[in-house]
Amino acid sequence: MKAAVLPAFDAPIETRDDVEIAPPGPGEVRIKVMASGVCHSDLSVQNGTIPLPTPIVLGHEGSGIVEEIGEGVTRLAVGDHVVLSFVPACGECYTCTHGQPYICEKSAAQAAGGLLDMTTRLTSGGAPLHQMACLGTYGQYAIVPEISAVKIDDDVPFEVAALIGCGVLTGVGAALNTAEIRPGDTVAVIGCGGVGLNVIQGAKIAGATKIIAVDMFESKLEMAREFGATDTVKADEGDPVSAVAALAGGRGADVTFEVIGLGPTIEQAINTTRPGGQVILVGVPRMDVMVNLNAAFTWLYLAKSIKGCWYGSSDVYRDVPKLLDLWKKGELNLEGLISKEITVDQVNEAFADMQAGTVARSVIRHQH
Ligand SMILES: [Zn+2]
Ligand SMILES: [Zn+2]
Repeated sequence: MKAAVLPAFDAPIETRDDVEIAPPGPGEVRIKVMASGVCHSDLSVQNGTIPLPTPIVLGHEGSGIVEEIGEGVTRLAVGDHVVLSFVPACGECYTCTHGQPYICEKSAAQAAGGLLDMTTRLTSGGAPLHQMACLGTYGQYAIVPEISAVKIDDDVPFEVAALIGCGVLTGVGAALNTAEIRPGDTVAVIGCGGVGLNVIQGAKIAGATKIIAVDMFESKLEMAREFGATDTVKADEGDPVSAVAALAGGRGADVTFEVIGLGPTIEQAINTTRPGGQVILVGVPRMDVMVNLNAAFTWLYLAKSIKGCWYGSSDVYRDVPKLLDLWKKGELNLEGLISKEITVDQVNEAFADMQAGTVARSVIRHQH
């Protein structure tokens, strides 16, 4: 089969035609991958922000059709259409049974670049090929754990379904699950890429009446307005913290989302939030990023809450149908996130577009 492969850290993506795929093992399913979003976290594996073993088939935001099931699979059947989840959710471990399936204990295995047993089902030229997030949606086919796939209705277009798997669950989930946004709140969103746009539309659904988008790219601020931002701040013109404060009644935002993952923007997010407000950290930082905070004037006297957000604090079995419902009702714009449809040979160009800030999402349509 064909797959886009990251051969080594910092190397360009290669399309390979010789990828061999093993049959699904116990608890695994074979997916015919139909569509895959190109997400900033794929680029973060290439540049080492997210360290994973190489060579690896990237891609963790996808949709497809179940083609074969392994021994003991009960949740899925051949022919099911699915959204792939970049975090497996077993439903049985400590965190899953304590309302936090987005950090399912089984997901720790993902750091090894394989499936739940830490081995991969892919080879190329006889050598093992790793799979990002137990998935690898830049391949035409994937063997994935059954707990990494959520059945959806057959009438949902695959390119729309694919986006749910990462950007939409993360961004909309940050607004609806992680944060507590009250109707009438003022919300600031620092970083308006694919995930940031979803935070914006989630904040709108939650009832925020003022949504301030902050970014360096005018192109992204324009997209932010289309997704519900009421005000925009160009981050490289003057001091964004005072610009947001001025727009937020002089006191700062009720809730600020940081969707970049840099130390300085995390500090900006905290300073942009009003006393008593919430700071939600969504962006993926490099492993060595540290932040310096004044304890007395962050937590104590100003009583700010700082909350980490992984995968939009989502329960995929609850939230995938919920988000598709909002999309069907016209409250969630998913088609508008698709800036370009590409083939699997065009991933390098899609990475360049993402860095230039010209696209919300490029979506790979696999040919079979
Ligand atoms: Zn992603
Ligand atoms: Zn679990």
